[in-house]
Amino acid sequence: MNNSYDTLLSHLRKLPGLGYRSAERIAIHLLTDKVQSGKDLIQAIEDAQMKLSPCEDCGNLCEGDLCEICLNPSRIKCAICIVENVLDLMAIERSGTWNGLYHVLSGKLSPIHGVLPEHLNFKSLVSRIEHGAVDEVIFALSNDIEGNATCHYIQDLLSDFPNIRFSQVGFGLPSGGGVTFADSSTLKSAFDGRRVYD
Ligand SMILES: [Zn+2]
Repeated sequence: MNNSYDTLLSHLRKLPGLGYRSAERIAIHLLTDKVQSGKDLIQAIEDAQMKLSPCEDCGNLCEGDLCEICLNPSRIKCAICIVENVLDLMAIERSGTWNGLYHVLSGKLSPIHGVLPEHLNFKSLVSRIEHGAVDEVIFALSNDIEGNATCHYIQDLLSDFPNIRFSQVGFGLPSGGGVTFADSSTLKSAFDGRRVYD
C-alpha cells in the first residue's frame, strides 16, 4: 500500500502489546469498516491526554488535582500501597483487595538502565509521610532485583519515621510485570499473605 498506511501501521506497532497482525487488523478496521470510530478514537485520545494528569498526592491519573481514591473518605488513610505504575494500581483496584491509599513511583530503581532516585516519585512520598498520619507502607513491587532494591531504598528513605510498619506483597506473583498481569484471586492471596518486616 502507500506511505500513509505504512505510517499508521508503524505507529500502531509502537503501542505496547500489539504485534504486527493485531496492528494490521486495527489499521484496516479504522480505514475501512468504521471510519467514524477512528475519528471518535482520535477525539477520545486528545481529550484524555489533555484532561488527565498525575494526582498531586499519589501519582494516579485523574482529572483535577487529586484522584478519586485520594478523595474517597471511605479509604483507609493511614496505609499506603507502593506500586510501580498506574497499570499496577488499576489491577489491584479491580481485584477489590485493597482499601487504603496508593503511591505510584512511575518505575523502579535501575541504575543500569539510567533510572535513579531523582527519576521516581520519592519526594512526594516523603512529604505525604511527613504531613499525613501514615503508619503502614505496603510494597506491591515486582519481585525482582530492581523491585527489591527499590523497597530497600524506600525503607532507608523513611527510616526517620520509626512508627511506620513495612510489609511486602508479591510472594506467589510472577516476576516481571507480576502485579499488572496477576489475576484478582492471586492478588488477593498476595495481599492477605503479605510479609511484615521486623
Ligand atoms: Zn491520588
